[in-house]
Amino acid sequence: MSPLYCEKFRIPKHLEIADGAVVPAPVGEQPMMKTGNWRIERPVIDHEKCTTCLNCFIYCPDSCWHLDPKSEKMVWDAIYCKGCRICVEECPADALRLENELNFKGGVARLDKPY
Ligand code: SF4
Ligand code: SF4
Repeated sequence: MSPLYCEKFRIPKHLEIADGAVVPAPVGEQPMMKTGNWRIERPVIDHEKCTTCLNCFIYCPDSCWHLDPKSEKMVWDAIYCKGCRICVEECPADALRLENELNFKGGVARLDKPY
């Protein structure tokens, strides 16, 4: 926490944390983090434009992109994607776009059992 930030919000000294953090990467899929039926958009990839730079793999907070070693193409995981569009924003090749869930059969990623 920078001194300026601490001063502005009056964070007690004993609650200060260091700037930045180290997390294991990739974080990996979390069984309790399956997306419900609320996602309204999903990323769609244009493999012709994709350069397999792996930015989407690096930036996705739910580890929804991985490089398939056989096809050497990026593969998306519908079960965990939240539709947050981070991957779309971080793709340097403009290979990702968001599409409405209603354009797809099944619509949204659903849980095996509703909560
Ligand atoms: S960020 Fe874009 S170009 Fe890079 S691997 Fe993902 S889809 Fe392909
Ligand atoms: S939209 Fe968000 S959760 Fe879904 S694949 Fe992209 S970065 Fe990951």
